[in-house]
Amino acid sequence: MNATSIEDKILLLRLAFKGLEDDELAELAGLTEMKTYPACHVLCQEGAYEDVLYIVADGEIVISQKVMEGEEERVLRVGGRGDVVGEMALIQNAPRAASVRTTTICTVLEVEKQDFEVILSRSPRLAIDIIRITLDRIRSNDQRMIRDLLKTNKVLRQLDRNKLEFIQIAAHELRTPLTVLNGYIKVMRSFPETQTNPVLGEVSDGILKGAERIHEVVNMMLDLTRIGSEALEVASVPVPLRRIIDDLARSFDRITTQRNIQLTVHYAEGTPIILGDPALIDKALYQLIVNAIKYTPDGGKILITTRPTIIDHNTRGVEIAVKDTGIGLDAEHHDLIFEKFYQVGDVALHSSGKTTFKGGGPGLGLALVRGVARAHGGRVWVESAGHDEVHFPGSTFYMLLPLAPPNPTPKL
Ligand code: ADP
Repeated sequence: MNATSIEDKILLLRLAFKGLEDDELAELAGLTEMKTYPACHVLCQEGAYEDVLYIVADGEIVISQKVMEGEEERVLRVGGRGDVVGEMALIQNAPRAASVRTTTICTVLEVEKQDFEVILSRSPRLAIDIIRITLDRIRSNDQRMIRDLLKTNKVLRQLDRNKLEFIQIAAHELRTPLTVLNGYIKVMRSFPETQTNPVLGEVSDGILKGAERIHEVVNMMLDLTRIGSEALEVASVPVPLRRIIDDLARSFDRITTQRNIQLTVHYAEGTPIILGDPALIDKALYQLIVNAIKYTPDGGKILITTRPTIIDHNTRGVEIAVKDTGIGLDAEHHDLIFEKFYQVGDVALHSSGKTTFKGGGPGLGLALVRGVARAHGGRVWVESAGHDEVHFPGSTFYMLLPLAPPNPTPKL
């Protein structure tokens, strides 16, 4: 191709911009410069402010983008003769959104930003063409992104299933030796030597307490897999909410007294009787209260309230809120804490103990709460002004449950 031929440039511009009149093409051609680059030459550098638009006359280019810092570049598309690149950043006055590299020797027509703007302001047809090119590109980028997201979602769902399977296997594997251990400790405790020897007594108490804690975690793991399983059937019987909450509150009497935490319950008038699975709801509320105790410093307050509410348009239901004066939660964690094993902050820094301040846990409690709420056709969320261990802004966890669970049971 004769690089200086104006006819060649017009021919190429006609290929790139449909619908331009000959005089417009000629004017544009007059403002362009034909250049040849070797393979692997960077025409546009992602993130850079550059002032040139390119129309490929000959050769092949590749357009790629780094979606996230630290990630490898992803190829958006491959281009060739007639392709226009670098127009978006020119119109937007923004840094390049993608990198463009030549993959073979490439001949390109180059248009400087100021020349491009002059002709753009004179030719509505060119403007429309540029809009068309840009929209086509945005649309195909969107479609590609959606395809990528769907693919990633599929992988994530599979990973989630793997996680559930792992929890299930681990729980079953732990249960048998745990039962054996419990049996042996009980035998050991029945010996007079253990009963009369204070050291042995203390040791066996410690082992028993540890085994009970493991047992609780194993049970939580099994509950979680049960709730995550598609076969779960949620009972639909009247739930004695008031009794469940009162019993739970009473079961924490010793620890709240010990830690000087004031736990109050308030049932708003008109709190309806709902149908559901009392055992599951009991487990979910237990987790919310344990957490409120765990993340509230000594001397704090916890308030549990229930009230009638409307869930999504016309569905009547009940709202249960557990409000504490604890360390609070930053907004970035508000959704993630309901995922299995998700914990905020450095797990290694947690103290141990189920109800000690900031006592560690397996990170399954809130996943269980969300599973129970969803299985009932309800939902959970948290509101908190943020994490602050000086002023203790606190958190409020809300659980909405409809008057009756839907049929069939929704999946997690
Ligand atoms: P864990 O076993 O770690 O308590 P959960 O699933 O119950 O697991 O909670 C997940 C994380 O959510 C916790 O590690 C904690 O950081 C945060 N969290 C839960 N409840 C509260 C609360 N009431 N106040 C502040 N943070 C909370």
